[in-house]
Amino acid sequence: IAEPRIDVNEPEHFAEDALVAVLTAQPLDRLLDYKAPEGGCFRGAFVEVPLGPRKVVGVVWGTGRGDYDRTKIRRVSRVLDVAPMREEMRAFLKKASDYTLTPMHAMLRLATRVPGLSDPPSMRKIYRMGEGQPDRDTEARRRVLEVLAEYGGLAFTLKELSDMANVTASVVKGLVKQGVVREEDTPRDTPFRKLDPEFGGKDLTPDQAAGAQALGSAVRQGTYGTTLLRGVTGSGKTEVYLEAVAECLRMGRQALVLLPEIALTAEFLTRVEARFGCQPAEWHSGVTMTERRRIWKMVGQGGAQVVIGARSALFLPYQNLGLIVVDEEHDTSYKQEDGVLYNARDMAVLRASLCGARVVLASATPSLESWANAEAGKYDRLELTSRFGEAVLPDMRAIDMRSEDLPSGRWVSPSLAKQVQARLEKGEQSLLFINRRGYAPITLCRACGHQIGCDHCDARMVEHRFQNRLVCHQCGETKPMPDACPSCHVEGKLAPVGPGVERLAEEAQSLFPDARLAVLSSDLFGSARALKDSINSIAQGGADVIIGTQLVAKGHNFPLLTLVGVIDADLGLQGSDLRAAERTFQLMRQVAGRSGRSERKGLALLQTFQPEHPVIRAILAGDEDGFWNAEANERRHAGVPPYGRMAGIILSGSDLQQVFDLGNALARQDASLRAIGAQVFGPAPAPIARVRGRHRVRLLVKADKGVPLQGALKTWTGQFQLRGDLRLAVDIDPQNFF
Ligand code: ADP
Ligand code: ZN
Repeated sequence: IAEPRIDVNEPEHFAEDALVAVLTAQPLDRLLDYKAPEGGCFRGAFVEVPLGPRKVVGVVWGTGRGDYDRTKIRRVSRVLDVAPMREEMRAFLKKASDYTLTPMHAMLRLATRVPGLSDPPSMRKIYRMGEGQPDRDTEARRRVLEVLAEYGGLAFTLKELSDMANVTASVVKGLVKQGVVREEDTPRDTPFRKLDPEFGGKDLTPDQAAGAQALGSAVRQGTYGTTLLRGVTGSGKTEVYLEAVAECLRMGRQALVLLPEIALTAEFLTRVEARFGCQPAEWHSGVTMTERRRIWKMVGQGGAQVVIGARSALFLPYQNLGLIVVDEEHDTSYKQEDGVLYNARDMAVLRASLCGARVVLASATPSLESWANAEAGKYDRLELTSRFGEAVLPDMRAIDMRSEDLPSGRWVSPSLAKQVQARLEKGEQSLLFINRRGYAPITLCRACGHQIGCDHCDARMVEHRFQNRLVCHQCGETKPMPDACPSCHVEGKLAPVGPGVERLAEEAQSLFPDARLAVLSSDLFGSARALKDSINSIAQGGADVIIGTQLVAKGHNFPLLTLVGVIDADLGLQGSDLRAAERTFQLMRQVAGRSGRSERKGLALLQTFQPEHPVIRAILAGDEDGFWNAEANERRHAGVPPYGRMAGIILSGSDLQQVFDLGNALARQDASLRAIGAQVFGPAPAPIARVRGRHRVRLLVKADKGVPLQGALKTWTGQFQLRGDLRLAVDIDPQNFF
């Protein structure tokens, strides 16, 4: 892979006769040489260049090599009307590429994922009251003038105006001809309203004020640094880091707040508006294309001060970024598992270190990585130890399932049901938590024992009864629920095994027939709005019993909720994943944190068959430091992250033998890895051995901290040409170790 060059001695401006090297998002492993555009251009300029018969967008990266026939070199077509890519952004893409071993063209694609970049500066027409008099009065014309008069000096689009006046567009156009209505051109992409740092500040508790003070002065320094903000759920972490955002605004710098889940943004936007007087820019996959383009451009011109977004917001072209908040920093959804494999938390730290910004990692249950960095003194630490106001942390108790009298096919123990009943009588809410989507994880034929699996993946199909379909949670494939077993063709023998959130809802309905149920699972909502409505309704007391997956574990405020029942606390403890304990600990603490967030004290009950398990005991004891220390010791002992380095190599292809052959060849020719003392494990079937019809095989590489792992990996994997449909992907710091 040819290295895009970054040479600080290169010129910043290229004259018309110079050769420039252009990076494009096309899957090519090199920069392309062009003659600079007419009139020359600056380094970092976004340009349009001819490539074969097409024109593509690229960035002027440096000086062209010119090591082939100059007469064949074409000219850059034109410079686009957007702010050039800043030096720090180019450095960020390069370093991120080096770290994740992702080609530069793929990094650029992340940074330019916005439609209409090459469109001319787009204008649109707006309409407002003019001076002229109409030649004659009609009912329709009068309505148009009434609307314009009613809204004073406001301007409308043609559609808005004709809709509001209930007339056709031609009526408005007719009035324009006579000068009664004025037609004007205005830029389509407009700046966001200014946020006011002094607008709606709250009175902070002494604890919170001290935290806000510390973060504020860190932001004021204007240099890179990371703070781990740990605080129990409901302690006011959000209030505290919003003060850091305020400080950033006062300094005229931009702030980015990353959230792990789109579903959280709506509630969050409301809070930001209450604090700063208007809404910030919102960036995630649910945002329209026009709005994306507006945000991309405004972020680059300083017309957007604060962005609330998903991990891809890290790749926006900030003009002057001063703060990145990573909320719920432990959340596994920050790790992108498709395409470019990166962890947004790590990338946030990298981005900030290059532009002199402060990073705030906020969590009630930090990742072991961040915890270790704070212990080592690399991150500053801030703690909020008590909940805001009267709210106190819930009591936590185990329900020992070995001594509960529960018929098969039932999952709510009598002890738990009794507690729910008591809440119903008091008008309080209960949450039954199960981290499994769908009706039942297994569909089994009682005649032959066959379990229905996905045709394309090594995964079971999960029954989703509300949709009356089977769904593969790996690839998304769905099919109707069959009447007969696909294997033995006997009818009426297919049976659900095990609980999912839908089945639990059914059980709750029969246990508490008069209760109002709300089911919160990502499958059941067609849109972010529907989910938001449902969450709002629950928060206002619109449900008595909430049945939910991990969707509810994240940051919602349900003031009436006083009981959380975890149906299967053992679920995450099975399997051989080294991070299982950490995840279970975080999830259980988060879920428990949902209850008792206001005056009423909460209770969290964990149904478990192994109450003596160290993780369950640490959760119940609320002994966070004890848990982290024990977990850190185990990882240190095993030499795995954060105390050692790991990389996963995923090989895939349609022919299993070929995939394994490549894996074996890699494992044999490991000289470059041995040179840095790294070890290779595998090849072995990947955690999911088949996805979308492709076989997947994994190699794991383990190395000491501080060795040049990426360079060695590059040499190692570069030894082989990938033939046919074989693919190789490198996953630095994989989520699953074994
Ligand atoms: P966390 O982010 O730590 O879970 P939040 O910032 O969401 O905590 O605070 C929990 C609840 O307490 C929110 O409803 C928040 O508005 C409220 N709250 C926290 N601190 C204050 C404060 N100083 N004044 C008023 N309300 C507060
Ligand atoms: Zn599948």
